[in-house]
Amino acid sequence: MIQGVEFYDSEDILEVYSEDASRWYKVKPKGVFFPRSTEEVLKIVQFCCSRGVSLTPRGGGSGLTGGAVPEKDGFVISLEKMDKFSFQDGIVVSEAGAISGSIERKINSLGFTLPAQPSSLNFSTIGGNVAANSAGLRSIKYGSMSDYILAVEVVLPTGKIIEFHGEDARIFAGSEGILGIIASVRFKVVKKKNRVVYTIFLSSPDQILEIFNVFRPFNPSAFEVLDDISSYIAFGVNRFSLILEFEEDYNGIFAEVKSLMNILSESFRFDFAIIPDTWERRKRLGPALSKFKPFKINEDVVIPISLFSSYLRFIESLRKKIDCISFGHLGVGILHTNIMFGGGEEETAFDVKRELFDFIVSIGGSITGEHGVGIDKLQFVKNELGDDSVYFVSTIKSFFDPQNILNPGKVPRVSFGCVDTLDPRFQKV
Ligand SMILES: Cc1cc2nc3c(=O)[nH]c(=O)nc-3n(C[C@H](O)[C@H](O)[C@H](O)COP(=O)(O)OP(=O)(O)OC[C@H]3O[C@@H](n4cnc5c(N)ncnc54)[C@H](O)[C@@H]3O)c2cc1C
Repeated sequence: MIQGVEFYDSEDILEVYSEDASRWYKVKPKGVFFPRSTEEVLKIVQFCCSRGVSLTPRGGGSGLTGGAVPEKDGFVISLEKMDKFSFQDGIVVSEAGAISGSIERKINSLGFTLPAQPSSLNFSTIGGNVAANSAGLRSIKYGSMSDYILAVEVVLPTGKIIEFHGEDARIFAGSEGILGIIASVRFKVVKKKNRVVYTIFLSSPDQILEIFNVFRPFNPSAFEVLDDISSYIAFGVNRFSLILEFEEDYNGIFAEVKSLMNILSESFRFDFAIIPDTWERRKRLGPALSKFKPFKINEDVVIPISLFSSYLRFIESLRKKIDCISFGHLGVGILHTNIMFGGGEEETAFDVKRELFDFIVSIGGSITGEHGVGIDKLQFVKNELGDDSVYFVSTIKSFFDPQNILNPGKVPRVSFGCVDTLDPRFQKV
């Protein structure tokens, strides 16, 4: 289709690139491009712009909001073959399609680690992590991807290759493929420290905030919460649990934490253990839920941590209508509440999702902490952000992409001065 650029339009390829890991949305593209260099990305962008056809960037396709699902009759550009990276002096320079887990393994062997790594590390790309501004298990200490970006090389829909630096580069963190195609990224990583991971099995979830406040001064690198069901799936214990990780920031910290853990276990009457494969169990949790019910809606809502008890009470009220399983990065307020359902429960499930989002907005939280908006949350963002912010986002989009070529249908639309956030091209399959 374009001289020298790999391209496929066979049915099996179109099928694979028609959906992401959410599996809620499915649109077959017209074809899929696999560039091997920034110059090839530019050729593809120019090709689409000159014909006025849409182009959806894709990394590992591990997104959970339909963000990499193309528009009907549009093309997909998969960055997966641009996967070269190098590492020097604590800085990684990587093409967008490198699998983040490959980078992690390489830098681990040199004593470094990716600070803001998602649980999908082994099947997501660094370009996707930037585009989604991924966060993860260690965000309580290390923040999100945007905190580490030094520069990005971007192919803009106006047909230019530009390298953005510092603050300018960070505008592409969380841009979800609507502003430009990230071709390569330069970012900082951190020294890997010794770690200790405790799993606490609580006698009551009411203790969580107090425990959080006691351990907060030790700068935990993870503070995860699992509700009774997820705790049962991960550890075989039907009680709320916490996973706390600490790094050896100074000599003696592990002994201090251990002695505090012993004291608190007496006063709060909890059990605790060091379980060697805790993180593997935690990372398997999301995929393992499919054994519980055939379908799930996996949310990533953000709550003010101080309102965790109210959140639990609210989830209890939802559980009377449908099964809900929650776990997540409580240290930064991000909770994955999974609405689980089987045949005949779909309508209730989507009503519950709406109810959940209304509640989240009412307590000053956010409907997405790390998965992004994609198609999935488009119709809900206005409720959280308000008309002015939505208008601002769509204005930025028009500035970067006046022809609306890149990943269309993922931005709230503005027409005749009104904001319309529901794009009819992407109804749920
Ligand atoms: C089991 C599981 C666990 C997960 N855990 C986490 C977690 O802990 N934290 C977290 O934040 N997320 C998590 N996710 C969600 C997802 O993995 C992340 O959002 C990830 O960063 C997406 O990367 P990707 O390469 O797969 O991107 P894709 O899914 O391919 O794309 C995601 C978005 O980025 C855009 N995009 C991709 N590449 C580019 C590029 N080069 N230029 C411009 N735009 C681009 C796409 O158009 C799309 O809008 C999880 C998903 C799964 C399935």
